[in-house]
Amino acid sequence: MKKILLIIIDGLGDKPIPQLKNKTPLEAAKTPNLDFLAKKGICGLVLPYITKGELPTSEDTHLALFGFDPKIYNPGRGVLEVLGIGLKILPGDVCLRGNFATVDTRTLKIIDRRAGRIEKTESLIRAINGITIEGVKFLIGKAISHRIGIVMRNKNLSAKISDGDPKVTGGSPLRVRSLDKSKSAEFTARVLNQFLAKAHSILKEHPINKKRKLPANYILVRKGGKLKKIKGFNKKYNLKAAFVAGGTLYKGIGRFLRMREIKVKGATGLPTTNLKGKLIASKKGLKNYDFIFCHIKAADNLAEDGNFFGKKKFIEKIDKNLKPLLKLKNTLIVVTADHSTCSLLKSHCQKPIPILIYSNGRDYYPSTVFQPKSTRSKKVKKFSERDCQKGNLGKIKQIDLMPKILKLACAFDKK
Ligand SMILES: [Zn+2]
Repeated sequence: MKKILLIIIDGLGDKPIPQLKNKTPLEAAKTPNLDFLAKKGICGLVLPYITKGELPTSEDTHLALFGFDPKIYNPGRGVLEVLGIGLKILPGDVCLRGNFATVDTRTLKIIDRRAGRIEKTESLIRAINGITIEGVKFLIGKAISHRIGIVMRNKNLSAKISDGDPKVTGGSPLRVRSLDKSKSAEFTARVLNQFLAKAHSILKEHPINKKRKLPANYILVRKGGKLKKIKGFNKKYNLKAAFVAGGTLYKGIGRFLRMREIKVKGATGLPTTNLKGKLIASKKGLKNYDFIFCHIKAADNLAEDGNFFGKKKFIEKIDKNLKPLLKLKNTLIVVTADHSTCSLLKSHCQKPIPILIYSNGRDYYPSTVFQPKSTRSKKVKKFSERDCQKGNLGKIKQIDLMPKILKLACAFDKK
């Protein structure tokens, strides 16, 4: 079987943008290396995993991409974030994700949901870490900038609780409520509300906040969950898998699926991330592993900020760093995304995602895997939403992708 390198460019797909001459950022970007892979490989579109009527989430789409049905396997974003931060999770713990936010201390109205995207939160975290209320211990870990992970530790907790984050400014933080009538959910919500009030009273007096224009004086919590034990990627597919990622969620997903981590200095999930280091580490990792998942984050954030020029530039930067991979032997290279992120909407969107699959030295891709046709299409000139539509892979549901990739990796050996 061939080795597999899966490169996920988060939020890669987009819609045409007038300022880019009605091209998408991927179409407008100069991407000779991706174009080479697309031309010599096979292309198509992936239909992202979506819960009816909602926009795709990064956690659901990644799980679907790896062949784990999110309806069964998604443990909640809080759990994945906490895993990504590296906090220990014990059986029974409830995990949440949180934001440092700014509220008006008099009215409690939210002024900034991200406390001015505060970076240095270590001493604020120290001030509230380890607080115990009614026997529930609160453990806090730092994620990127204003973000944190929270572990609630006690045997009588339930994750059936609502969010405290209203996701808009102007109003007050929401009171956390139990989502069922169980005593454990009511207990969890009550204790969490007490903790949030206590944290506020400590944070508003903290010396760091006395100097800040947007003090990080409140914690907005959401997406509570409990860790589920699962079989993991390696066992499911009988493959040795590893991941390379900078963002906490993606590290969390890799750890949740029990892939091994390949650490890369300077891998941050930001536009300034060490792209070169990540791709070289992925290439080297193929010596020891059958499957490498390399996650690249910033295209998504740039689109969410409406920065389509930035997204285009970042895609070009990724492309430059792909050069050393073009001659990889005995490897299937797959480039796609978890979902599209539309720059004009500044949000994830349901648009199908471009995908390319390439194997060095192959002109023909077995038609047994991708019915009806899977020889490469001469119509594909560029790796883009438009050209991938003409590709011979056609449209693939995200949850069906991994079995097809594995089948293709095996089929090559037989030819
Ligand atoms: Zn994403």
